[in-house]
Amino acid sequence: MRLLDKCRCCGACVNVCPYDILELEKIVIINGECKECGTCSIVCPVNAIQRGGADHKI
Ligand code: SF4
Ligand code: SF4
Repeated sequence: MRLLDKCRCCGACVNVCPYDILELEKIVIINGECKECGTCSIVCPVNAIQRGGADHKI
């Protein structure tokens, strides 16, 4: 998964990650730990999380 700059830090993705690997105010998608389930991408209101790409940090 990759995190785009348009993230608003609303926290929706943090609350739904079944593997609890996202943290608000320090949102990092660790590709080695992310299961690519896509749940965070579905709930994001601005489509800031998309499949593929390297690690991105807010
Ligand atoms: S794709 Fe799934 S496992 Fe990866 S960060 Fe999003 S919710 Fe968590
Ligand atoms: S749901 Fe989208 S806008 Fe909200 S914190 Fe996650 S990536 Fe950012």
